[in-house]
Amino acid sequence: METKRSYVIALDQGTTSSRCIIFSQLGEIISTVQKEFKQIFPQPGWVEHDPMEIYASQYSVMIEAVAKCGIKPHHIKAIGITNQRETTIVWNKLTGKPIYNAIVWQCRRTADIIEQVRKDGLEEYIKENTGLVLDAYFSASKIKWILENVEGAKELQKEGNLLFGTVDTWLMWKLSNGKIFATDYTNASRTMLFNIKKLEWDKKLCSYFGITPEMLPKVYPSSYNYGSIPLFDQNIPITGVAGDQQAALFGQACFSSGDVKTTYGTGCFLLMNTGNKPIFSSKGLITTIAASLSDNKPDYALEGSVFVGGAVIQWVRDQMRFIVDASDSEYFATKIEDNGGVYLVPAFTGLGAPYWDMYARGTIFGITRGTTRNHIIRASLESIAYQVTDLILSMKEDTKINIKEMKVDGGASSNDFLMQFQADISDINIVRNKDKESTALGAFYLAGLGIKLFNSTKEIKSLVIKEKEYKPSMGKEDREKYLSKWHKAVKMCQGWEN
Ligand code: ADP
Repeated sequence: METKRSYVIALDQGTTSSRCIIFSQLGEIISTVQKEFKQIFPQPGWVEHDPMEIYASQYSVMIEAVAKCGIKPHHIKAIGITNQRETTIVWNKLTGKPIYNAIVWQCRRTADIIEQVRKDGLEEYIKENTGLVLDAYFSASKIKWILENVEGAKELQKEGNLLFGTVDTWLMWKLSNGKIFATDYTNASRTMLFNIKKLEWDKKLCSYFGITPEMLPKVYPSSYNYGSIPLFDQNIPITGVAGDQQAALFGQACFSSGDVKTTYGTGCFLLMNTGNKPIFSSKGLITTIAASLSDNKPDYALEGSVFVGGAVIQWVRDQMRFIVDASDSEYFATKIEDNGGVYLVPAFTGLGAPYWDMYARGTIFGITRGTTRNHIIRASLESIAYQVTDLILSMKEDTKINIKEMKVDGGASSNDFLMQFQADISDINIVRNKDKESTALGAFYLAGLGIKLFNSTKEIKSLVIKEKEYKPSMGKEDREKYLSKWHKAVKMCQGWEN
């Protein structure tokens, strides 16, 4: 039967590479191609990408992934897109060319604009209506910068020939030869221009940042038929779109209120599905829209991030030269019985939620004559789990939901010691699935739901296979002792640069 040979393409446009993964309808990965692209650093703190290279790399990995596995294009039923969030592209509608490089989410060039927004008294309004903390990460200040600094931008805008998009929008527009100008709720909710309560572009903020309505894409649910793009001799519909972290939440099958996932990459990203009402945090967490199916009632999520997650292990490897490979950290950490009283706070660039202290700096406490390299390695791994635990505790307080289980993915989630310590110190079950490609899986599930490859999220849940579960085994007394020392260490490193 024809349905036996249905495939879905997941395009995963990340910060450092463009990937394409082709899934069979059963969720098997049958082809993967990945291509890195150039990171452009014009000045300290500035980060850019070439939008044409983003498009070209994404297009070429798609073609190669299809060609490589030999499937027939007419067996490809849908395309799902997931992407780096917040990164801002502004282009000329007539020529199809960007008027400036993509300003990447990490770029700090608009810190001054953000300071002015604060002075203008908009911080609270932004939090209440967009769910975001006032920061240069998000798209709004980046668009304003382009409008004010690129020659001819304002004229094009006046003529109605200037378009803005996050990476999903740019890709869909290019892939469809300008026919699709759209984004999804998850990506829109990272622009600082989208009212997450009314589910529309916020007029007050758009006008404040000087953004005209013609520049903005139409916003739809994550699982939706966005239109078709030509691929070989076929027209294939794009039926799933979501920002990377929301796609990972969906890919981890966190469909219900209270479901949580953490991605342990360079940084750690913790997202909790909070159901169909936004919950605003008192701890500096971000309120964002989760990938969802329904038109008028999307799910919301709370999001917290750890700036230095797996990166602390890179530091142990590259700067300290204590290990050769990140995975060696597990071997050395388990050579000793416990942390020996050593606590490392990797506040290399300050601390995020719930502390928000940009003046904090990295520190190691509790060093004695008996401290060895292994203690520092262990303390580094433990610091990842402590930081994630701080976010879990904040989410519990904000939502009053008792988190019992957390799904994990990302490079450092393969570390058994870290995962067991995470279960122990946060007193929740940690579950790692067999398929670690949560972000691409999210795009696949959303696109699959869009073409009725799956009839429900329940059906998707039945596809998920657990690889390993870590159950808490630490007593309450020990847990509290460790946590209280960690919090003491955090307190002592705060305000260092002030
Ligand atoms: P990203 O997508 O942010 O590049 P990945 O998900 O590929 O990150 O994870 C890479 C990060 O995880 C690196 O910071 C690395 O130090 C860390 N890491 C990878 N494997 C391990 C491991 N076995 N134990 C601890 N950390 C690890």
